Amino acid sequence: MKIAFFNAKPYDRRFFEEANQSFEHEVHFLEPRLDETTAGLAQGFEAVCVFVNDVLNEKTISRLAELGVRMIALRCAGYNNVDLAAASSRDVLVARVPAYSPYAVAEHTIALLLALNRKVHRAYNRVRDGNFSLDGLLGFDINGLTVGVIGTGKIGALVIRILNGFGCSILAYDPYPNPECVSLGATYAPLDSLLENSDVITLHCPLTPDSYHLIDAAALGKMKDGVTLINTSRGALVDSRAVIAGLKSGKIGHLGLDVYEEEGDMFFEDLSGRVIQDDVFARLNTFPNVIITGHQAFFTREALRNIAQTTLQNIADFEKTGKCSNRVEAATAIVNPS
Ligand code: NAD
Repeated sequence: MKIAFFNAKPYDRRFFEEANQSFEHEVHFLEPRLDETTAGLAQGFEAVCVFVNDVLNEKTISRLAELGVRMIALRCAGYNNVDLAAASSRDVLVARVPAYSPYAVAEHTIALLLALNRKVHRAYNRVRDGNFSLDGLLGFDINGLTVGVIGTGKIGALVIRILNGFGCSILAYDPYPNPECVSLGATYAPLDSLLENSDVITLHCPLTPDSYHLIDAAALGKMKDGVTLINTSRGALVDSRAVIAGLKSGKIGHLGLDVYEEEGDMFFEDLSGRVIQDDVFARLNTFPNVIITGHQAFFTREALRNIAQTTLQNIADFEKTGKCSNRVEAATAIVNPS
């Protein structure tokens, strides 16, 4: 199929070109992000391939449909950036990659936890500057801590598996408890009990209307003083302003973020020569006990290989049968970005 591949980065090109050797789609890599102003670039293509920060609103989708585009192939799991009702009313099929490497995200979660605890980011800069003082670098043992895991699906379960190796006690919260996590020794508890009793809290649930700002001022108020909070799931699970207040008061001892609620205009771009206009993000970035990564938890070789393979297979299935098992439809949709 002829595919307009929007928002293409060098790593996308590398993994998609490799995977496409067994599909032979005609893929055109385009740098612009897809939105209503760039949709015209899809003229002459049957499918567009897009990522988390492309904007597929009603206007973009209408334009794509006018141009003859019949499929939106998301190269990610989440689809909150797509107006599914608009796609369905114009007979444009939307497909996604539901799972690619839960290991990547689980391992990045642990990377943030260990780096924060042992202050690796600060130690790295000190030693490069010839400063071998240990003052201010005091950590704590992960062994023996109680870790609260919110959301125990594919990624949460792997985080629990890894933390078991450290000798942690696990409290879990999920509306649908996972028997695998129970067999790993996790204890399911009401959310408030998890918030009150955990030394470390890590988020692995989707963003839905119910989970928007799950971690707000009230939730922070219930947590232990000096709690470590990690969010590799979705930015808007956390109220960033409440978290800044929590950092200033010392309620939050350490904060690790791979996602940020207003990341759309910043993440995945090199803005190093520009002034960051988002004051909340800029403030978060000033704390010595905060590490922010730019939505890179998924970013491993294995994940990119799986993303490319599944996306191209989705397109091939649609081309051959008019159907796709990874189709997303408005009736089943939840806000679940990644
Ligand atoms: P999953 O669907 O396997 O598991 C999600 C779990 O969350 C389910 O068990 C579900 O019952 C539970 N859940 C739903 N609402 C909840 C709530 N309000 N409170 C607690 N639990 C709730 O998903 P997954 O593959 O484990 O991914 C988890 C999240 O990780 C995704 O939603 C996505 O936002 C994020 N993610 C981030 C990246 C990244 O690069 N940072 C990459 C992939 C996924």
